Amino acid sequence: MTFQNTLEYAKSLDAQDELKHYRKEFIFPQHKGKDVIYFTGNSLGLQPKRARTYVDEVMDDWANLAVEGHFYANKPWWDYQERFAEPLSKLVGAKPSEVTVMNTLTINLHLLMVSFYRPTSKRYKIICEEKAFPSDQYMFQSQVTSHGYNPQDAIVEIKRREGEHNIRIEDILAKIEEVGEELALVLFGGVNYYTGQVFDMKTIVEAGHKVGANVGFDLAHAAGNIQLELHDWNVDFAAWCSYKYMNSGPGNASGCFVHERHHHSNLPRFAGWWGHNKERRFKMEPTFDPVHGADGWQVSNLPILTLAPYLASVELFAEIGMEKLIAKRNQITSYLEFILHEIDKEVNSTFEIITPSNQEERACQLSVFLHGEGRSIFDYLMKNGVITDWREPNVIRLAPVPLYTSYEDMYQFGQILKQGIVVHK
Ligand SMILES: *Cc1c(COP(=O)(O)O)cnc(C)c1O
Repeated sequence: MTFQNTLEYAKSLDAQDELKHYRKEFIFPQHKGKDVIYFTGNSLGLQPKRARTYVDEVMDDWANLAVEGHFYANKPWWDYQERFAEPLSKLVGAKPSEVTVMNTLTINLHLLMVSFYRPTSKRYKIICEEKAFPSDQYMFQSQVTSHGYNPQDAIVEIKRREGEHNIRIEDILAKIEEVGEELALVLFGGVNYYTGQVFDMKTIVEAGHKVGANVGFDLAHAAGNIQLELHDWNVDFAAWCSYKYMNSGPGNASGCFVHERHHHSNLPRFAGWWGHNKERRFKMEPTFDPVHGADGWQVSNLPILTLAPYLASVELFAEIGMEKLIAKRNQITSYLEFILHEIDKEVNSTFEIITPSNQEERACQLSVFLHGEGRSIFDYLMKNGVITDWREPNVIRLAPVPLYTSYEDMYQFGQILKQGIVVHK
């Protein structure tokens, strides 16, 4: 396809976009009376209009029914999370019993590591990506230390090669083989938060299992963004937050996956009453009898007010399906890439897209390295209604979320960017 950097052309792509009506399902912050150009759906997704209806419903049930809402609310609270199983499992390529929602992301990864990071004196190492999201780095360090190991020795980071921005799969595989019998766990991001690189999870799982390690994923930037087949790939466990691509609201609940083959195992876990056998939960028995499924990792009764907007969003995703989202995602990301290159040529600038250029290794994010006046260009964009984010040393991340951004947004962004570069030259 040959793209054009004109308003007319961008509008013609919008006219053909079968998801264009979904933009109206979201609330955009306003800049000078117009919707902002929103590129940070990879950080905090926009509010779906139907979220408020779901939250209001819980508030009303609470007002009208109080404690009886647990059983008689419009959507009863005591098993509210079960409404997620069907639609959410489809979004991540799992069976309904393999997914659950609870807590927040880092908490869930910690809880899952209690079960899936069981170091022994011989097998105690963790493989992860270099410059993983900071929360993951602190998590690895504290997990390893709590078991009495030295992070310097027990945490093995896969590095980028000199002068390269992305991690090569052959380097991941070679390191897994090299650590071999000392490897307890591979815990990787599905999509790197900084560069937007998508990792080949299926191949990583195979390699990890081959040397006898467990393999899990932090899917913060993957859920709602890429096609996942967690069950078929044999992933042991995974967790994701819901406030990025899944638009559930700030700091909101996390989703978890535990592969079916672990459902009847005696894996140790940190337990609580919400993971106990559902039929017998209210008998208040002294011995823990876990639910056979991801729900068996639940601890507390659920924060219904936070699940409500998440459920609204999951149902919206289920209505559309990942396939259509991914088709638009690929096209709009390519269009954005085209616009960036056009502007770069027109103003004779020097920015560099550090996200992989092949479609297999990227999704809905382009990370752009701005040489020179990066910070002032970023400030200029923000002042002119383009919401993006800044990462040291000189990177802006642009996520053209297919659910609610338009091709016209991409064109308009290009014009504002060009202006910003000219002003700061
Ligand atoms: C956003 C993000 C997190 C955030 O974790 P919380 O526990 O929800 O604060 C963790 N890991 C990655 C890779 C992220 O991108």
